Amino acid sequence: MDIDLAPEDLEFRREVLSFLEEHLSADVRRASRLSTGVFVDPPWSKEWHQALFRKGWITHAWPREYGGCGWSPMQRYIYESEASLCGAPAVAPMGINLVGPVICEFGSPWQKEFYLPRIRSGEDYWCQGFSEPGAGSDLSSLKTKAVRDGDHYIVTGEKIWTTHAHFANMIFVLARTSPEERQQQGISFLLIDMKSPGVSVRPIITLGGDHEVNQVFFDDVRVPVENLVGEEGKGWNQAKYLLEFERGGGAPSVRSRVALERFKNVLRNEVGDSHGSRLIDEKDRQFRLGELEARVMALEALDMRLVAKRQTGERLGTSASLIKTLASELLQEIEKASVEALGPHALPDLAFDGPAFAVSNEAPVPEHGWAIVGRHLNGLAGTIFGGASEIQREVISKDLVK
Ligand SMILES: Cc1cc2nc3c(=O)[nH]c(=O)nc-3n(C[C@H](O)[C@H](O)[C@H](O)COP(=O)(O)OP(=O)(O)OC[C@H]3O[C@@H](n4cnc5c(N)ncnc54)[C@H](O)[C@@H]3O)c2cc1C
Repeated sequence: MDIDLAPEDLEFRREVLSFLEEHLSADVRRASRLSTGVFVDPPWSKEWHQALFRKGWITHAWPREYGGCGWSPMQRYIYESEASLCGAPAVAPMGINLVGPVICEFGSPWQKEFYLPRIRSGEDYWCQGFSEPGAGSDLSSLKTKAVRDGDHYIVTGEKIWTTHAHFANMIFVLARTSPEERQQQGISFLLIDMKSPGVSVRPIITLGGDHEVNQVFFDDVRVPVENLVGEEGKGWNQAKYLLEFERGGGAPSVRSRVALERFKNVLRNEVGDSHGSRLIDEKDRQFRLGELEARVMALEALDMRLVAKRQTGERLGTSASLIKTLASELLQEIEKASVEALGPHALPDLAFDGPAFAVSNEAPVPEHGWAIVGRHLNGLAGTIFGGASEIQREVISKDLVK
């Protein structure tokens, strides 16, 4: 989107572009382009994390005192959008964008001193242990228990859909420390070392063939009391704080913009119905493209409104739900349109696309079709994780009628 930037923001944009030019390697860019998951797997994600860490930009959104850059919301938007448009992978957010801000806000001095530098440097790789079988949308019905035993909690239970638990050495967990009348009470927020005896991880392979999510089991796991974040029984406050970051962070419209460029690329390269034509020359495809382009532009405008809200220090509140819902649903429509445009070329994609990013030279899918089907299948989860669309609509409508 064309925005009239202030001179200092134009200067900032130039700095971002020159950093990307110099430090975003061809390998990382390729991994990002061929990855079908939301986040690129290590080692590529770690390489990018390290580049940002060395530059001092990895925790740019944190408060300055904990290693933030003091960027304005507009500068954050510029950085996020330019990085995505240049093909940089999304940095796995579980440490940087989720537990990091929670520790900054609610953590003890010891937790801040110990964990924040390790999140920044990438020494710790985190995963999020909130959802359980039977406790997803209705998260507060979670059953994982943490029972106090001297200087420890004994944690028992199971988490599901835990993204990247197979890479993580740390997990943040919501566990019930006391049975209360109101479900949201009696929940505590714990930081757990994945190497603790009694923690085990079982992979879940998703529709697109990716191993991104897992089940995590806790079998009498001893967790030091010093790893409780905030007050015992008040973990729901931290969970709500964190979910606002999960839904409203970054520049959500940019993923749709990037996906739209991929769709255009498919239309430019796929052969149309009449001799010598391409799909992009066909009227119905042009209408579809125009419609999706208009929706991406509307989303970009909404992104700008959120930037303006942040500039005035306003919390996002329901707007975070609004943009999460619109962005995830639009992204799915664009990915689906790309698969439809690929036609028969879409089918064999499944056979060779995978987490190892191995693309055979004999691949029957032309380059413009690589990873398109995988992204479509993987992207179906986008309207579920971080709060399902139906639940978001309920949140939005409650706010509208109050
Ligand atoms: C790819 C992926 C990655 C994930 N990563 C993580 C992670 O790292 N950590 C983590 O903790 N969780 C993670 N999740 C879990 C995610 O947050 C939950 O899947 C989500 O909250 C929905 O919960 P559920 O799967 O139990 O579905 P349910 O809550 O059972 O919902 C099933 C369907 O019913 C609808 N529904 C439920 N309640 C209502 C209602 N009251 N009114 C109307 N409709 C309703 C939902 O919208 C949904 O369509 C991930 C999920 C996916 C798919």
